[in-house]
Amino acid sequence: MNSIDQEYAAIEANARLFNKTQTNPFNLPEGFHKVIAASGRDMGLGHYCVRCKLHTKAGAENGVKHCGRIDTVPTGFFSRAAFYFKLKTYTLPRVWN
Ligand SMILES: [Zn+2]
Repeated sequence: MNSIDQEYAAIEANARLFNKTQTNPFNLPEGFHKVIAASGRDMGLGHYCVRCKLHTKAGAENGVKHCGRIDTVPTGFFSRAAFYFKLKTYTLPRVWN
């Protein structure tokens, strides 16, 4: 028979395993990313922060306020070109909440 401490340890281990799967379960790219709808429509920019888990699905072009700051798209010509060059694409699943 298991002691209450052993039972507790087992439950805690299971909870830890589960919590690991709760960090970015949709594999969103970090920071700004290009968003394509399931229909193939261009949805503009999305944003995901790994720290505060805020996910802006679309319309992040005007900046995203999170973690006590505002992330914006660079305005300079070259920094803007580099920004768009590095962007990853995320295709929205057909059903999302
Ligand atoms: Zn954040």
